[in-house]
Amino acid sequence: MRELANRLDVTLPTERRPRRLRANPALRRLVRETRLDAGQLIAPLFVVSGRERREPISSLKGHSRLSPDLALAEARRLAGLGVGGVLLFGIPDAKDPEGNAAADPDGPVAGTLRLLREAALPLVSVADVCLCEYTSHGHCGVLKGEAVDNDATLPLLAGAAVAYAEAGADVVAPSAMMDGQVGALRSALDSSGYQATAIMAYASKHASGFYGPFREAAGSTPGFGDRKGYQMDSANGREALLEMELDAEEGADILMVKPAITSLDLLALARQRFDQPLAAYQVSGEMAMIEAAAERGWIDRRTVVLESLTAIVRAGAGIVMTYFAADVANWLTEGR
Ligand SMILES: [Zn+2]
Repeated sequence: MRELANRLDVTLPTERRPRRLRANPALRRLVRETRLDAGQLIAPLFVVSGRERREPISSLKGHSRLSPDLALAEARRLAGLGVGGVLLFGIPDAKDPEGNAAADPDGPVAGTLRLLREAALPLVSVADVCLCEYTSHGHCGVLKGEAVDNDATLPLLAGAAVAYAEAGADVVAPSAMMDGQVGALRSALDSSGYQATAIMAYASKHASGFYGPFREAAGSTPGFGDRKGYQMDSANGREALLEMELDAEEGADILMVKPAITSLDLLALARQRFDQPLAAYQVSGEMAMIEAAAERGWIDRRTVVLESLTAIVRAGAGIVMTYFAADVANWLTEGR
């Protein structure tokens, strides 16, 4: 091989040498195009009723269902690390076909929000707005026969959003994929005096196999059927942009895509088309793949976590929901 190479007359076809800027760590840092900041990360938290209650979630390594007092302690830790916000999901004590507990002012989400407001942490409080954790059948809205009734679901989502705004949520995040849900929330919030509460819309949410571990965490697996009648077909990108367009028109302040790893093209397109902040949710299955491979020694956990989040931000997301928020915030501080 070496002999053959010695006989060849190879000249550099160009004087352009991109490697000049890769020569040492300082140069590489100087020309880095995408930087992560703990302030752009949002940590999902699962809250349950009670006090000093911590139930480890086996499918989400390192995460637990927490009672409001412990959720506050966790939020305090995250704020101390510089994490930008927390996204609350509630697991109620009792479920019914209409998911009434979603709007319970004494439920774990509202209770945690009130504690967060009192503590006045430098952290944005976001409340997920959906019915699937609260319905006995596990679907994201109320049923008419075996189908989810879109328009009958809207007032229930709006009621939950108003309850969270009243408890102190800075942002409500409707995730049910009902048509018109952003407009319904906006009008209900405004007419209830919560004009200042922002809406982060799960605008492009694909029906996805990557949500598996979350469903164990939130106890929200549908009792029958699937969610393909309301969540989007993952094959569709133009439809995703239409969903974002509609949510923007209805008053969404922030547009989110989910899952992140399968929506990088949509983030890039949306960044060109919309001026709202864009968010992406690195979902439970994305986390699980990294954790499982790292556990087997097949990949380096820290490298891959940072690489995946950097790619999501590079694609166009300014905000990322991630189960790695605390780890990343720690690593970024070490790196300073
Ligand atoms: Zn749902």
